[in-house]
This record gives sequence, C-alpha cells and structure tokens, in this order.
Amino acid sequence: MSTAQQPHTPHRAGADGAPRTAVHAPTPTVDVDRTDPDYRSWLKEAVRKVQADANRTADTHLLRFPLPEEWGIDLYLKDESTHPTGSLKHRLARSLFLYGLCNGWIRPGKPVIEASSGSTAVSEAYFASLIGVPFIAVMPATTSREKTRLIEFHGGTCHLVQDPRTVYEVSARLAAESGGHYMDQFTYAERATDWRGNNNIAESIYEQLRLERYPEPAWIVATAGTGGTSATIARYVHYMQYDTRICVPDPENSCFFDGWLTGDATAHCTTPSRIEGVGRPRMEPSFVPGAIDRMMKVPDAASMAAVRALEAAIGRKAGGSTGTGLWSALRIVGEMHAAGRTGSVVTLLCDPGDRYLDKYYSDDWLAAQGLDITPYARTLDTFLSAGVWPD
Ligand SMILES: *Cc1c(COP(=O)(O)O)cnc(C)c1O
Repeated sequence: MSTAQQPHTPHRAGADGAPRTAVHAPTPTVDVDRTDPDYRSWLKEAVRKVQADANRTADTHLLRFPLPEEWGIDLYLKDESTHPTGSLKHRLARSLFLYGLCNGWIRPGKPVIEASSGSTAVSEAYFASLIGVPFIAVMPATTSREKTRLIEFHGGTCHLVQDPRTVYEVSARLAAESGGHYMDQFTYAERATDWRGNNNIAESIYEQLRLERYPEPAWIVATAGTGGTSATIARYVHYMQYDTRICVPDPENSCFFDGWLTGDATAHCTTPSRIEGVGRPRMEPSFVPGAIDRMMKVPDAASMAAVRALEAAIGRKAGGSTGTGLWSALRIVGEMHAAGRTGSVVTLLCDPGDRYLDKYYSDDWLAAQGLDITPYARTLDTFLSAGVWPD
C-alpha cells in the first residue's frame, strides 16, 4: 500500500539546477523603459504594498493533534489555513510577486498569468489586486466551484482548460499574447522563497516548538504540489544542521513518488490528481527530490478518512492534502511508537475544508469516485485508540 525507500540516485532539476521543462521565454523588455521614474515609483509602491501586507499579518498557529500523553509522541499541524487568502499558497504568492517585481517581470498595467489547480491562483489574485494589475488563472475545468468563486472575488479571471496537462502552454501563450507575465509557480516556487530563514514556514515551526518537550521534530511531513514547501523545509533543516527528517507523502495520481524512487526526471502520470493542490503529472522543476529523506504513497481514500479523523480530533475541516499529510504523519507516529521512540512530528493543515464540501466531505462524491474510506477509517480508529497500526 505504501512504501518508503531511499532513491537510487541523487536528483537534480537540471545539470545546472535550471528548469528542465521551461515552456516560456523570459518576459520581453521592449515595452517598458526601466529608467522611467514613473516605472520606478510604481515598482517601489508595489513592493511596499506587498511588504506591508506581510507586516500586517500574524504568524500561523501550530496546533496540537491529541495523542495519548503516555506515548511520548507529540503531533502538530502548522495551520496554514489562517492566512488572509486561506492556504499555504499565501506565502508562495507573496514570494512570487516580490520575486517577479524585483526581477522587473511584473509591469504596470500588464496581466499576471498563472497555471494553477486553484489555491495559488486565489492568493495571486489577491496580490494582483493589491498592486493593481490584472490577473488570469489557467486551471483544469475540474477545479472546485468555490475556488473559481474566490479567484473572481479577488478580481481575477478564470481560464478553464479541459486537459490539465495543457495549463503550462496555455499560460505561456496568454502571457505572450498580452505582454503579461507568466508567473510559473511550478518552476519558481523553490527559488522565490527565502530558504535560509526570513520567517519562512520552517523557521516559524522551529520557533513555535521552542518551549515544547521535543523542540526538534523527528519528522516534518509535507505534501508536494510545486514542491516548494518541502524544498524550503528540507533546505532549512540541512542548513541549520538539525536531525529532523523530511517525508513527502504522494497521492495516488502523481509521478513524484516514482520519479523520486527511480531518479527518472521524465516520470509522468496521465490521470489527474483527485487531491487538489498536490500530486502532479510531471516532475516539476520546483520539486527538489535530493533534499527529501523519504516518500510515501498514500491512497486517496486514506486521505479522505484522515481529514474526517482530523475533524473528530480537533473540530476543524481541512482540504484533502491535509489528510494525505496527516495519514502519513500518523503512520510515522505509529512506527515511532512501535519502536519505543519518543519525539515530535509536524505536518501541515494546508487549507480549509469549506472549500471542498461538495468533494471530500460529500458521500455522493466519494461514491462517484469509487472511494471506500471505511477500511482506512477503521485503521485510524484502531490506531488512535489502541496504539497499534494494523498491517
Ligand atoms: C500547493 C498546495 C500544497 C503543496 O505545497 P507546495 O509548496 O506547492 O508543494 C498542499 N496543499 C494544498 C492545498 C496546496 O494548495
């Protein structure tokens, strides 16, 4: 059902770390005079507005998932649903806007375009509106209604495509036609984020664990969409010389696990992921396999059972990817408990469940997808009550 092994070979995004599969040329520079004082004052003002947004917002909570005290194992969820735009993509969008502005790629009056399964586009629409540029999201037609509503609420436009694999080319084409900027989260997520600190998600987790009984987690579990979050956390852990291990759980329909295991940079998957935000059809340039200690394949029905167990435990609904991470984190807790180890484990609450009431929380949707969560729900019940993870 799930495996966890070491990859055979080290991986690189490309020989020089460059994206393997970039589909767009750099933004043309002919249509703006960068020495124009009006452009420079627009740029300064745009950067100020993005920074001011960060300055106004508080850090996200580190919640405890209740486990029996005597296990000597503490499980936490970094609650990224409390950002102003409701997901961990708020961090990414802020970083991508600052990177695009400081690189001179985002220009006054020109649209920002993104290939997104939804959450990134919600956050980017918010930042585009903050600095007053148009925003277009290119998304699979299967994206939840609630996400398209949120993008439009923040003033963005949704461009839906039938084949999810075409989101990249369509975005690049729209940017070329409009003179806009294709943000390209799947290439730039890992490099737009300050991985050595600057209150990134990893630094924040360690700061919040400072007074806990196990301040240095044995494991941090983070799912991958762009791969940016897992790359930032893993790099920070290595940079700070911590002993924490990084596990990336992968949903059913995704190539990341196979690509990581075999070192095959051309690994791909033809079925789109059911878990919004995570699982990809290709090895994204922003996914950094070499930094990751372990991967785990998680059945989609297990992710669904886990989000329901989360609600039973802490009274909060979350998106499917939170379930994928929680299932994996609980398996690791089970391994530690079986081995008599104590310590802490951290995973993420990536976005709120109210975005998915008609999907993950709908029994009709589960039935239509052929997902039976009963055996997984039973496994979680047994584990949380008896401390034994059934085989
Ligand atoms: C993007 C996303 C993830 C994964 O984060 P990455 O940094 O892109 O790998 C997980 N869950 C949700 C809901 C997301 O939108």
